[in-house]
Parts: sequence; structure tokens; C-alpha cells
Amino acid sequence: MTDILNFINGEYVKNASGKTYEKRNPVDNALIGHVHEAGQPEVDAAVAAAKAALHGPWGQLSVVDRCKMLDGLVDEINRRFDDFLQAEIADTGKPAHLASHVDIPRGAANFKIFTDTIKNASTESFEMRTPDGKTARSYGVRVPRGVIAIICPWNLPLLLMTWKAGPALACGNTVVVKPSEATPSTATMLGEVMNKVGIPKGVYNVVNGFGVNSAGSFLTSHKDVNGITFTGETKTGTAIMKAGADGIRPVSLELGGKNAAVVFADCDFDNAVATVTRSCFENAGQVCLGTERVYVQRPIFEKFVAALKDKAEGMKPGRPFDPDTKIGPLVSKIHQAKVLRMYQAAKDEGANIVTGGGIPDMPDDLKDGCWIQPTIWTGLPETATVVTEEIFGPCCHIRPFDTEEEVLALVNANRYGLATSIHTQDIGRAMRLASAIEVGLCWINSWFLRDLRTPFGGSKQSGIGREGGLHSLEFYTELRNVMVKY
Ligand code: NAD
Repeated sequence: MTDILNFINGEYVKNASGKTYEKRNPVDNALIGHVHEAGQPEVDAAVAAAKAALHGPWGQLSVVDRCKMLDGLVDEINRRFDDFLQAEIADTGKPAHLASHVDIPRGAANFKIFTDTIKNASTESFEMRTPDGKTARSYGVRVPRGVIAIICPWNLPLLLMTWKAGPALACGNTVVVKPSEATPSTATMLGEVMNKVGIPKGVYNVVNGFGVNSAGSFLTSHKDVNGITFTGETKTGTAIMKAGADGIRPVSLELGGKNAAVVFADCDFDNAVATVTRSCFENAGQVCLGTERVYVQRPIFEKFVAALKDKAEGMKPGRPFDPDTKIGPLVSKIHQAKVLRMYQAAKDEGANIVTGGGIPDMPDDLKDGCWIQPTIWTGLPETATVVTEEIFGPCCHIRPFDTEEEVLALVNANRYGLATSIHTQDIGRAMRLASAIEVGLCWINSWFLRDLRTPFGGSKQSGIGREGGLHSLEFYTELRNVMVKY
């Protein structure tokens, strides 16, 4: 068991208040450690360190030297791969095959992808004549925005944090990270790696704790924070946007979703079933891009429901390092209770429960974990709670449709607009729909296939702004225009 501290100005520090909370393993509820909750003094210290570091050695580095230093993080995270893997798995309970293929390697790679981008980013330049016959040239200069607050969720803790810290640091900012209270370990551990590769003190800081009246809100309301980048629920995003309004600080918001998969009768059936299985159940459905609404064209509806049921029932829950484990637990008791409330709502509102609907029968040593059954419903109206609200669990509602126009209206009739996937062999139809469906991310015959140079973000209530590739520059830098008359 360990103490999970705050990382401020290059050092691990306890908090002044002595307030801690227990972090438990969602697999079996074993105590992992005590997390030191940052109060206002720790958040003030972290922001002050980050502000000072902007003008220290970090601020003097050339972009090439800065990027070289950040590339060293990738090597060092990979050298300590097992430490990060163990910590991520203890916090989340996710299967090792998932964390070792997605969370840790992609979490590390985020630093390199953005240093490559930032080193090669150019700005515009224009020449013009002035009325007095002289010449003027204007050119753009990108400067760091300053101190960036990074507020993270728990579903892909390291990966989603470095997705923001990577570009923020590559652009020359300094950061204060507030990991989710449920998954504090890997962000905190990254402090050791920062020190090891020589990132100057104060450039990367971590404050642990909760949201409201805790580290999260202390950080987002801090006047010396120059920008806030957030991934999490839409409700929290609303509070953060309000906090950002004080002082006119920009926000980048990656929020919730209620993503649809659209399966046409002419699809490659096996590929569609395999892909929708992943998008519904991977990471126990705790993926922002995950599918919770499935629309299947009527001729293959029954066959598709039966095939997905078969897959769901084959998802064996178990310990993360058991090679037979196909699905881990939910992240916490709090989240398990929320998902179970949604399962109950589906029942109360008259769903046909195709499979699942509760907690699986687990062996005695795992009974205290946050387990949940993969669940499929049919027969609900589009107004039902589980068809309209984000659940963030391994579940979906499947509904038949007849025409392209009908399914387009069904998919778009939701306040969220994060992601969708379309399954058909008619590429013209797929591309037509891809332009008409109101989302930030659309996959055709695939899901979660990412090229990190491309824009990532949501439409409608799924977010504001795009991060990824050059698009991250819009948030993590200030574009200054310089005009020279000569
Ligand atoms: P959450 O909104 O409850 O919490 C996210 C973070 O915000 C946590 O660190 C929390 O402590 C902090 N927080 C909460 N209230 C705050 C406040 N008032 N001020 C400042 N900070 C506050 O989200 P979660 O439950 O951790 O994550 C699940 C949600 O994240 C889902 O809605 C999911 O769709 C979304 N998500 C979105 C994306 C995306 O890219 N769009 C990716 C992953 C997760």
C-alpha cells in the first residue's frame, strides 16, 4: 500500500490539511493506497510553480531542444512499462491485454506524435503595399498560451492525460494536471519520469483530489491559469466553461456521448458484429466513443441481435492478468451504482432484456469488485432513458430501421454528437451519411481507428474545439500577428 501524493515543482508533497481518501482496486475492492487531496494551498503552489517555470530554463529552450527532451519521456515510460501497466490496472481493473496495447503504449506515444507535429508547424505570411508606397509584411508567430490546467477522466487515465499534456508541453506551456479522483496513479508516477529526463521543475505538476470544492474547481477558477482543457461529462464541462468565463480563459472540452452504430443489411456481417461488439463492450463500455445505440436494417435485425447476444455472453469477466478475461469491472462502486440505476430504468420502462441486466456471479475473492454484465435491450421507444442518456457501461439498445432517411433522423435526434460508425458496402451511401450525421468523428466499417494527425472532438453537447495534430495548436498556442513596414 502506498501514499499517492501531489507532484509540485518537481517534488512529491503531502498536503497541508492532512486530508486523504482511500483508493481501492475495482477488481476486488482491495485498498491500493491513500491519496493526498490537494487543497487551495497545494493548487496555489502548483499554479505558481507552473507560472514561474514559463520564464525559467523551460522558456529558454529552442523548440527542437524542447521536443528532444519530451521525446525522452517516451523512452523512459517504455523503460518503466510494467510499473505504469501495474498502476493503471490497479486503478481501473481493466484487462492487461487492453492496457498493454492501448493505455500505456499510446499514452507514451502521445508525446512523440506532438513533438513531430510542433517541430514542423509553420505560420502564414503576407506582403502588401502601403498607401505611401512602402511595403509591409505580416507574419504569424505562435507563442505558448501559458499555464494550462488539464482535468482528466478515469476511463483511459494516462492516454487521455498525455493527449493533452503532450501538445501543451510541446508548444512550450507548463501544466497542472488534475487526474480523476478514481485514477490518480499514472499521472502522479509520471512526475518521476519528468524528473528523470530533466524536464525543469514546475513544468509538469499534479494535484490530486475531487472536482467540486476540491482540487478540480480550485484549479479551474485559479486566475493564473491561462487555459483549461477538460475531458469528462457534459455536466462538468458546463461548470468548467463557466469557471473559464471568469478572466476570459479559453476552454477545450471533450465531453460525453450517446454514440450510434448504423448497420445496413448489405454490410460485411461478421465485420459489423465484431466491430459493434468492441464498440459496445470494450473497456466495459467505458469509452467515450463507445456505442450505446445500435440501429440495424430490418432484414438482418433478428440475426444481428442474436449474434451480438452471443458475443456479449462470451465476454468472460475476471482478473486483469488472467488470459481468459475478456471484460474487467467498472471503475468504482459509484459508477457501478450509476450503471445499475440505468439497467433498472430500462427494466422499468419496459425494455426487452436480450441479455444481462445485472451483476454477474463472481467467485468469492472477486465478489466485492465493481462487476457488471454486458447488456443488450430491444423494444424501447427513442425517448427511453437508456436510449437518450449516456450510461458509460457495457450496454446498448438495438432498434430496427428501414430507410437511410429514417436512420439519419434517429441518429441525429440526440443532444450529443461525439462519434458514430456506419456499416455498409455501399460507400456512396456511407459517405453521404458521414456528412449528414451530426458528430465530430465518424467511422465507416471500423471503429476507434485513429490517425493522431486528424482532428478529434465532438459536436453539439459533446464538446468544443478539436485536438489532435495541427488542430491542437489552436488551443495550446496563441497566434500572434507581426506587421513590419519597410
Ligand atoms: P467527470 O466529468 O465526472 O470528471 C472528470 C474530471 O473532472 C475529474 O477529474 C473530476 O474530478 C473533475 N471535476 C468534476 N467536477 C469538477 C468541477 N466542478 N470543476 C473542476 N473539475 C471537476 O467525468 P468522469 O466520470 O471522470 O468520466 C466519464 C465521462 O467522460 C463520460 O461522460 C465520458 O463520455 C467522458 N469522456 C469523454 C471523452 C471525449 O473525448 N469526448 C473521453 C473520455 C471520457
